[in-house]
Amino acid sequence: ALANRTAIVTGSTSGIGLAIARRFASAGANVVINGLGDAAPIEAERAAIEADFGARCLYSPANMLSGEEIGTMVQLAIDTFGGCDILVNNAGIQHVAPIEEFPDDKWQAIIQINLIAAFHSIKAALPGMKQRGFGRIINIASAHALVASPYKSAYVAAKHGIAGLTKTVALEAATNGVTVNAICPGYVWTPLVEKQIPDTMAARGLTKEQVIHDVLLEAQPTKQFVTVEQVAGLALYLAGGDAASMTGAILSLDGGWTAH
Ligand code: NAD
Repeated sequence: ALANRTAIVTGSTSGIGLAIARRFASAGANVVINGLGDAAPIEAERAAIEADFGARCLYSPANMLSGEEIGTMVQLAIDTFGGCDILVNNAGIQHVAPIEEFPDDKWQAIIQINLIAAFHSIKAALPGMKQRGFGRIINIASAHALVASPYKSAYVAAKHGIAGLTKTVALEAATNGVTVNAICPGYVWTPLVEKQIPDTMAARGLTKEQVIHDVLLEAQPTKQFVTVEQVAGLALYLAGGDAASMTGAILSLDGGWTAH
């Protein structure tokens, strides 16, 4: 379904982003993966995508804290594959703390990586999409784009922000064959969720089991974690032709979380 398309997936050395990059490659796209981490496991993931799907896969080490490096990442797709048809803004970090104790540098980094990075990547990729009359921008937001939880002020602010960015760019690109949508997952079992368990235990005075069942899955009526494969499936739908009329949508994939 994505033959001759090129996709950039930010933050795809792990978790949701990696699942999306692999799903797009399986559908025939060239992919640019990105993210932080040790060189050897990243190269192994990159090579596995090429070997498993016969797709072409490049790695960009762009740090989402740098607008300049984000521009270089988009240029890499243009120089190698002739353009960026599909852009998935997925890189994200979390920090859990009461606002009075929230470290200033953590607040800044969350807004930079989870929100401002998408501004830079869209700014760099949209002109080519408009020129070719086709583009798909998929922002991985969160249920926290729609509702809040205590102790996640920076994350909730960034995710509400990306919902607004999604709708605005959707309007600006609507007549150019470019769609812009946001996926709002509930809790997905990835390193991002696993890593916040100790801080949530501390902030709320709970055990690990209590955090999983009484805090995380408490929010989700299905009592199940969303899977990375399910998020990748929705991203693939949004990237394809059937989704041409879906734009500016803020799509929940959250086990019913935001229904109550
Ligand atoms: P993850 O920690 O497994 O992966 C995050 C990815 O972002 C990694 O590849 C990491 O290297 C990359 N990254 C982090 N900082 C970066 C930086 N400065 N520059 C470049 N890359 C950077 O997390 P995940 O759970 O897969 O989350 C992916 C996205 O999904 C995030 O935007 C997150 O907010 C969102 N999300 C996750 C959940 C969940 O429950 N896991 C729920 C809703 C939304």
